[in-house]
Amino acid sequence: MAIEEAREILKHQFGYDSFRMNQEAAIGAVLDGRDCVVLMPTGGGKSLCYQIPALMLDGLTLVISPLIALMKDQVDALKANGVEAAFLNSTQTAAEQVQVFRDVRSGKLKLLYVAPERLLQSGDQFLEFIRSTNISLFAIDEAHCISSWGHDFRPEYLKLAVLKKEFPRIPVIALTATADKLVRKDIFDRLEIGDAELFLSSFNRPNISYRVEPKRNSFDQLLDFLEDRKDQSGIIYCLSRASVEALAADLRDEGFSSLSYHAGLDKQMRDTHQNSFLRDETKIIVATIAFGMGIDKSNVRFVVHMDLPKNIESYYQETGRAGRDGLASESLLFFSWADVIKLKGFAEVDGNASQSAIMLKKLDQMGKFGELRSCRRRFLLNYFSEELADDCGNCDNCTTTFERFDGTIIAQKALSAVYRTGQNFGLNYMIDFLRGSQAQSIRDEHKNIKTYGVGADISKDAWFDHFKDLIAQGFLSQTEGQFPLIKLTEKSMDVLAGNVPVKLIKAKVREEKTKKLVPEVSHPYIQALLDELREIRTRFANSENVPAYVVFSDATLVEMATYLPQADWELLKISGVGDLKFDKYGADFLRSIKDYCQKNGLVSRIDLKSPKRERKQRTKRDVFGKDTYHISYEMFREGKSMEEIAKSRGLGLSTIEGHLARFVASGELRLDQIVPLEKIEIIRKAIEENQEPSLIGPVKTALGDDYSYGEIRAVMAAM
Ligand code: ADP
Ligand code: ZN
Repeated sequence: MAIEEAREILKHQFGYDSFRMNQEAAIGAVLDGRDCVVLMPTGGGKSLCYQIPALMLDGLTLVISPLIALMKDQVDALKANGVEAAFLNSTQTAAEQVQVFRDVRSGKLKLLYVAPERLLQSGDQFLEFIRSTNISLFAIDEAHCISSWGHDFRPEYLKLAVLKKEFPRIPVIALTATADKLVRKDIFDRLEIGDAELFLSSFNRPNISYRVEPKRNSFDQLLDFLEDRKDQSGIIYCLSRASVEALAADLRDEGFSSLSYHAGLDKQMRDTHQNSFLRDETKIIVATIAFGMGIDKSNVRFVVHMDLPKNIESYYQETGRAGRDGLASESLLFFSWADVIKLKGFAEVDGNASQSAIMLKKLDQMGKFGELRSCRRRFLLNYFSEELADDCGNCDNCTTTFERFDGTIIAQKALSAVYRTGQNFGLNYMIDFLRGSQAQSIRDEHKNIKTYGVGADISKDAWFDHFKDLIAQGFLSQTEGQFPLIKLTEKSMDVLAGNVPVKLIKAKVREEKTKKLVPEVSHPYIQALLDELREIRTRFANSENVPAYVVFSDATLVEMATYLPQADWELLKISGVGDLKFDKYGADFLRSIKDYCQKNGLVSRIDLKSPKRERKQRTKRDVFGKDTYHISYEMFREGKSMEEIAKSRGLGLSTIEGHLARFVASGELRLDQIVPLEKIEIIRKAIEENQEPSLIGPVKTALGDDYSYGEIRAVMAAM
């Protein structure tokens, strides 16, 4: 069976246990010779949809990719897994290009990456090349670039129609991470693959949390945010090159490891900064949107937007650069209406009214997102025509309770100001009017109105929030377009007449709810070991001159530091360890893990690793309830003793104690529920007296056989 063979390649060449989302179905379609369009979120794993078929088909797979900068990394990553791949672009010397053509001729190459410009090359040269080569598949990456409805239209993509016309029998697979319905239609139409099969995956990125803060003192807010995330990698986006430079420098002054990236830097500098970030030498990259297209750095833990993105597509794509490894990650946006207004100026596309209208509409959606009071993930997915059954529980609005107070008087002041000035002014004017501003802009005749200045006791920012709140509740409305006006609604009169009380939102009170566990984050990995493994990875990466993730992704190292594989077969069970990487790096990583375990009295936990299941949309219980820790926890809560749980699950007692220790750490169990009271103090003392308090081995040695690893771990967790 072809798909069986595909699975073998997935395991042995790429080191993964199971397919994600629509990978398997898309690969099946390609192998059947059908055209297909694959929509998957950033980080979903689009590349494998054509890389695996490329290895199974006998000819060459031609990959059209818009980003020259990215090609080399993709090819390096493939080569690291033992796949014969190359790219052709203008950065290469003539000799290098000749070599590539030679490798194509000899049939050695399985994948060749080229930019779309190639197809336009002098006369028919490149088409001639295709004709004379045994090509099995065309893969078109970032296929949304073909649509002028999209946010990243590239005219040279239009030429790709020639592929299906000239080579009707070679299947085409088009891939993208952003596509609304119009864009999607353009992909089918313009590539002339009307019969292509569509593989639409959920765009949800459950491991990314969404948060929006008002853009006030944003630098201080940013410092607070970064302070708690000192050893994490992150991207901070700013609108202008100048603010990028300024912020990167300010962060360095504050002691953060940060570099800048924008199109104004020369190529060499850009590359240096980018590589330093990819290799984890620099933690924070401050950048314009020029940065990140196709950057496959899997351990980006946060993405911050200091300024508003132009549209939801960009925002989603940029935040999507966080957490490609599946581990919990964060996005933070500083939002202000001033930004919306500023961007409106840029949204005009010269001499193209319809294009301008599209851009303005997209910007309005971005504004709506900024002031949203309901689940942000729902809004985002809805924007991409997807329904989310429940609120996500992992965005600021889901974890915030809005406290309300009686704001009837405030509402009456606001509404009567709108009424008396004739419903003909924008938000800023209304606020200035209410606060009795002396500004020139306030009309003289308005200064005689009774409501002029009745809201002087309320700050501008607070008025802003109140107006937004009144609009959200339907007591006022705001027109569309470049200069939106505030108008009364049907509900306004009842308020003005004093018939309806109005509740307004006081301030945000953030509940520190314990975050729900995303499955991949629930590993109690050993930080000290992870650090050692990272060092080994850096050594290999430097000696091979590739980014660290090309050796192993963070997710792979975290698994090693969790499951502590001790034997070859155990290491091969770790996600991301394929045959070639196993041969190249396996021995070094194994040695380090074994040494560490020996020193600290630990044994392999590989039996805890069940193959990851496909990430389909599942109910919450499935995703959050069924990992091995929760099974033990639930049995314990049902009244079973630890011995009974160990017996019925066929696991060691110490393993069960370890499971339960996690719930001590999270506060769901009390320490004395799993460690006898009389032992707790003694263990606590032994830990404190230990030179390296996080290492369990020496504590165990000091305490002797009457104390188990599990008990010690539980006390550590509680401390
Ligand atoms: P996209 O192009 O959709 O943004 P990539 O193809 O770059 O995503 O894949 C993102 C990451 O996920 C890569 O590190 C890739 O190796 C990894 N990946 C892809 N498929 C799988 C899978 N089935 N299991 C585990 N990891 C995978
Ligand atoms: Zn939510």
